[in-house]
Amino acid sequence: MNNFNPADKIQDLQYFGEFGGVNPSISDSSTYTFLSAKTMFDTFEGNAEGCYLYSRHSSPMNLYLGKALAAMEGTETANVSASGMGAITPVLMQLCNAGDEIVSSRTIYGGTYAFMKNMLPNWGIKTHFVDITKLDVVEAAINKNTKVLYCETVSNPLLEVADIESLAKIAKKHNLKLVVDNTFSPLSVAPGKLGADVIIHSLTKFINGSSDTVGGVVCGTQSFIDDLKNVNNGAMMLFGATMDSFRSASILKNLRTLHIRMKQHSYNAMYLATKFENDGLKVVYPGLKSHQSHKLYNNMINQEYGFGGMMTIDVGTLDKANELMELMQNRNLGYLAVSLGFYKTLFSAPGTSTSSEIPLDEQKEMGLSDGLIRMSIGLDNDIERTYQMMKSCMTELGIL
Ligand SMILES: *Cc1c(COP(=O)(O)O)cnc(C)c1O
Repeated sequence: MNNFNPADKIQDLQYFGEFGGVNPSISDSSTYTFLSAKTMFDTFEGNAEGCYLYSRHSSPMNLYLGKALAAMEGTETANVSASGMGAITPVLMQLCNAGDEIVSSRTIYGGTYAFMKNMLPNWGIKTHFVDITKLDVVEAAINKNTKVLYCETVSNPLLEVADIESLAKIAKKHNLKLVVDNTFSPLSVAPGKLGADVIIHSLTKFINGSSDTVGGVVCGTQSFIDDLKNVNNGAMMLFGATMDSFRSASILKNLRTLHIRMKQHSYNAMYLATKFENDGLKVVYPGLKSHQSHKLYNNMINQEYGFGGMMTIDVGTLDKANELMELMQNRNLGYLAVSLGFYKTLFSAPGTSTSSEIPLDEQKEMGLSDGLIRMSIGLDNDIERTYQMMKSCMTELGIL
């Protein structure tokens, strides 16, 4: 991974517009004409490289964005989708049939958890939720029906780190596909380089970075992406969560500044995490030595991009958490909002929002406490000023 710099890979790509524009032209069409009927047939069969048929299948801009994201993850290719869930659900449906099983981290995005727990059983697919940091527990949950090992590089919302290299070895040994959601750690971690088979992102978060759209991507081998796009039995093709070309154009432009943004998110988060921990607050941030997987994560990341923009603090009770978030919002320090990767700090109490799909007793068991606040640290120019202002909010409320 040392020689692999994903931001350089993105920078090296060149796409010109129709008239030599520095950005590729947006193809504003759902369907494409053919000069010969034979070429139309060949295209439908997937045998006419460079020919477009219908934009749910493929469109020039979606291919450009997919190529850039594949370059970033170092995979053969990628396919974009209308949302992160529009990437996750078809991947699982493509890899599993009735009777198959999934072993998944129990601390994952609430929507993914709800899909595995409440919907996949309707198609006869069962999921075992495990503590992904315990490799023996992961391996013990695998049986002859298991097809997929699923995790997030850095988990939502508890910021647990998955040891992707070791999980990839377990997956290989049992002939499973290791599927990794890398939404929290773009550029910092390249799961494909550590042995993951399929890498998924919600583009909605850091990658797009402007909280103006939802989007997703699946990065993997050419043959897997071809399977997903197959007109007869491809789950991405047939579920139809296709991204619009205007959106992919705008995400591609934002992707070009991702490296600069990630450095600033990481710098600011590290700054606040260190200060607040010194002040005696309970802080979880993978960049802190106190984080249970700090050493592991330190070895996994591309140091240039740091430990990421996500941290959690625990202020004891939900009431305190709510008071603090409202006060910080009133002082314009950020917004009480779900999602992440915005220029402004976003905060929410995961137990009552993004992880509310997870039953209360299970939340407790996984260590998701009432007073937990998840923060996506913004691109603040003067983070010391932000720190001082946040600290005075905490002091006023008796938290510090
Ligand atoms: C937001 C998110 C998703 C879902 O993505 P959408 O774009 O909202 O569909 C999946 N995984 C993680 C880790 C997320 O943060």
